[in-house]
Amino acid sequence: MIEFDAAILRDIKKPLEIARARIERIEPDDVLVRIMASGLCHTDLEVIEGSLAYPMPIILGHEGAGVVEQVGAAVTDVKAGDHVVCSWNPHCGHCFYCERDQPILCEPFAYHQPRGHLLDGKSRLSCEAATVHHFSVVSSHAQYAVVPQSGAIGVPKEIPFDRACLIGCGVMTGVGAAVRLARVEPGASVAVIGCGAVGLNVLQGARIANAGTVIAIDRTPARQNLSRAFGADLTTGAAGDDVVAFVKEATQGRGADYVFEAAGSADGFRLGAEITRPGGQLVFLGKVNVAQDVAFRWGALMGEKKITRSSYGGARPKRDFPWLARLHLEGKLKLDELITSRLALRRINDGFDAMRRGEGIRTVVLPWNS
Ligand SMILES: [Zn+2]
Ligand SMILES: [Zn+2]
Repeated sequence: MIEFDAAILRDIKKPLEIARARIERIEPDDVLVRIMASGLCHTDLEVIEGSLAYPMPIILGHEGAGVVEQVGAAVTDVKAGDHVVCSWNPHCGHCFYCERDQPILCEPFAYHQPRGHLLDGKSRLSCEAATVHHFSVVSSHAQYAVVPQSGAIGVPKEIPFDRACLIGCGVMTGVGAAVRLARVEPGASVAVIGCGAVGLNVLQGARIANAGTVIAIDRTPARQNLSRAFGADLTTGAAGDDVVAFVKEATQGRGADYVFEAAGSADGFRLGAEITRPGGQLVFLGKVNVAQDVAFRWGALMGEKKITRSSYGGARPKRDFPWLARLHLEGKLKLDELITSRLALRRINDGFDAMRRGEGIRTVVLPWNS
């Protein structure tokens, strides 16, 4: 049994409460991770705000990195002392979707994850004798987490934890969308709508793929500037800009070969359809409330466009996390520049307040800092 500090959400729209949580024991497929860094992602905020429904109480956080403390009897992929990045999409490897190479849809994951459980349908977490739920099979806003073996991905020890954790969600989703999912080819034109953590990573994914003209679209001048450092050649999207005309002009009147929506708004989805060239590919990464309707001009969807929605950028964490870590260590993937603040766990609510105000790119919580 271990007892440790964790940020617990007891009810929607309430601040997270720092409390002592417990893990009584681990099961054969479990990996106990001493969490060293955990990124604050917008999806966590959606749970706090109630737009994404999860059982309470719950420990949020799905972008974690740390050191393996202990492994269950059936674990062979990692051992105590290994450095790992958590994947929020552990998968069984043999269900209908896993067999069809779509692990993001893994049936045990899709069933148990929204119920706040690990893949065996149970929680390992408690607080004051009450069960606490897992978030997306990670729950990294805490000093310890229990994840299944397929959710603990070994990475080189050289990469610092505060940077490594970002690979687990925002970096994988953005870089993966360009390189793994859309497979942007050398010379192709790319437009990215919304330059927060995911959008900036799409930009650097486009650079890794040797894209041609890369256009960043964001309302704020600060993010437009940052997007240039992450690989954008051109920026637009400020109030009063005619974005459709701008993108067409930059692409010989056709629209971009690849368009990625990472703003998560109905306007962003609509704009994406308007600026994708006939025959091009449009990838939706952002999301709005699942009950919300989004309307499109039908003509914008025509012309043999390939329209894809992706949650995790075509991630295969075991293949991709070590690859992304190496890219960073080789100086080809910016991670430091994504981190706008580092906070002790007890200050985690300050990080979500900044996110509500639209400030910064990524806040990283360091759960062992006082
Ligand atoms: Zn996330
Ligand atoms: Zn599966």
